[in-house]
Amino acid sequence: MPGLMNKYERILSENNYKLTSQRRDVIKVLIENREKHFSADRLYQEVQNINSDIGLATIYRNLEIFCELGIVHMLEFDSKFKHYELVDFEEEHHHHLICLNCDKILEFSDEDLEEFERRLEKEYSFTTVDHHLKFYGYCDECKTDSPGGDEKNGSK
Ligand SMILES: [Zn+2]
Ligand SMILES: [Zn+2]
Ligand SMILES: [Zn+2]
Repeated sequence: MPGLMNKYERILSENNYKLTSQRRDVIKVLIENREKHFSADRLYQEVQNINSDIGLATIYRNLEIFCELGIVHMLEFDSKFKHYELVDFEEEHHHHLICLNCDKILEFSDEDLEEFERRLEKEYSFTTVDHHLKFYGYCDECKTDSPGGDEKNGSK
């Protein structure tokens, strides 16, 4: 974990931002929960546990900076649904399945998509540097209530 923190500190300082104790605490919470995806409110609650001096406005401002610097990635569906995740440089590239009912976020990685990306590059003479893919819908626990999810085939 100190290694990761140093990495983020370096990115901040390269962009003339200091790793203030508040930023350190926010990043600490993100590192400790790096498999999670946070809304700003949830992150705020979590940060409150280790530093109650940090206000929600500070969380928002820093998330904005972190997104800009590529430390945090924002998953956005509409203005009501914004989740943030730490960009973990050691982790495998992945994509998201987002449940619109319970906000659950599932991750998947994608051999076939990387192939698709190469095809696009060829077809459009385009050089891709990155891509993000999100699928919106209903998770296993929520889909029975969703329109069209009426058929249950009891073969579980
Ligand atoms: Zn769900
Ligand atoms: Zn993720
Ligand atoms: Zn991909």
